[in-house]
Amino acid sequence: MDLLFDDNLRQFRHTIARWVDERLAPHADALDRADMFPRELFEELGGLGFFGVLFPEEYGGSGMDRGYLAYTLMCEELSRGHMGFASIVCMHASTASHTIASWGTDDLRRRYLIPAIRGEKIGAFAITEPNAGSDAAALRTRASRCAGGWSLSGTKMFTSNGTIADFVTVAATTDPSLGLKGVKLFLVDTKSEGFSVGRKLEKFAIHAADTAELVLKDVFVSDERLLGGADGSFLNAYRTLTVDRIFTAALAIGNGRAAYDAALRYAKERTQFGKPIGSFQAIQFRLVDMLAKLEQARLYTYYAAMLADSGAPITTEAALAKVIAAENCNDVCQKALSIFGGYGLMNEYPAQRFLRDSFFPLVGGGTPDIMRVIAARQLGL
Ligand SMILES: Cc1cc2nc3c(=O)[nH]c(=O)nc-3n(C[C@H](O)[C@H](O)[C@H](O)COP(=O)(O)OP(=O)(O)OC[C@H]3O[C@@H](n4cnc5c(N)ncnc54)[C@H](O)[C@@H]3O)c2cc1C
Repeated sequence: MDLLFDDNLRQFRHTIARWVDERLAPHADALDRADMFPRELFEELGGLGFFGVLFPEEYGGSGMDRGYLAYTLMCEELSRGHMGFASIVCMHASTASHTIASWGTDDLRRRYLIPAIRGEKIGAFAITEPNAGSDAAALRTRASRCAGGWSLSGTKMFTSNGTIADFVTVAATTDPSLGLKGVKLFLVDTKSEGFSVGRKLEKFAIHAADTAELVLKDVFVSDERLLGGADGSFLNAYRTLTVDRIFTAALAIGNGRAAYDAALRYAKERTQFGKPIGSFQAIQFRLVDMLAKLEQARLYTYYAAMLADSGAPITTEAALAKVIAAENCNDVCQKALSIFGGYGLMNEYPAQRFLRDSFFPLVGGGTPDIMRVIAARQLGL
């Protein structure tokens, strides 16, 4: 797999992998149990410059040449350490920050993007609502014109980083009769009057990743915070959201790799009938099938990221990468759990965490059904 990368990327991957092995992976079970956002680790990673992979040097980013591939590798490595933590980073350093870098004014970039890249401010991105998930065009959060700007009211659901965010990119409709064409993106400071966290949501997967319901009640947003200005539209964010599918695929792969590594080690250590269970062909075949699914997911996801770096259209490839990686890695994690036998169900072993977390990429950023809908549309169906 290393053949695909140049020296820069190999070095980059090595550096983030070392940080994961030394700083993140040893705390993974504790993070899962505590279900608390690890602010110190987040700030440490930001301080090391990893949140700037996708952004120009002018704003403190690293302006890497093959930024999408580098970021994909980073998501994979972080998720190998802990998917909950990796998903916080992914939402912050790609989706949320990307909207400001792409459509924010220079002033907004200085006030939000630069501290976000340093890890001093945390971002979130809120589209989903209680009654609008797969069907984003059905969202009801309303942006109404008022003196000097806009007034936002509505409820957002399942917002990652919702209770810890300093800023949230909010999708709101200026005219529900226009469907997605009426939806625009607004940068909301979470200190704004009328903004509140409805509740922190408890969930069975990706513990330590904060997920919340957000409430906006007549939140005033100045014209400057309409991302992209008067012509700004949710549809501008299409490429950001499309590339994000590749990053979510990478989250699935990192977690799948961790499950595979743990199962392989266990198969060599655990003895039954006087032999290591790895000497039984049933276990060997399961491990080889897991490896095949992982390698297929990695190769296709790296290909999609390389395509994104080349500037080519990626609608189909990003959707396929997410389907392949999310479904393959969910299967890898189920097989890993079975290799652990009864211990797989015990909280003191990580197999159950890998399986729980493997359900997140099957939902976050759109379900496999919706990825298939997107890919089918590209086939002219
Ligand atoms: C942990 C977590 C974090 C998240 N973070 C964020 C975030 O930061 N920001 C954000 O905006 N959202 C976030 N989401 C929301 C996520 O994107 C949605 O949950 C997802 O898009 C699915 O929407 P839904 O849950 O309303 O399911 P629904 O849309 O109600 O879907 C229910 C079922 O119906 C199927 N379905 C729906 N429509 C179709 C169709 N046309 N064809 C075939 N099948 C269909 C779906 O595949 C699914 O199986 C997060 C979700 C989770 C669980």
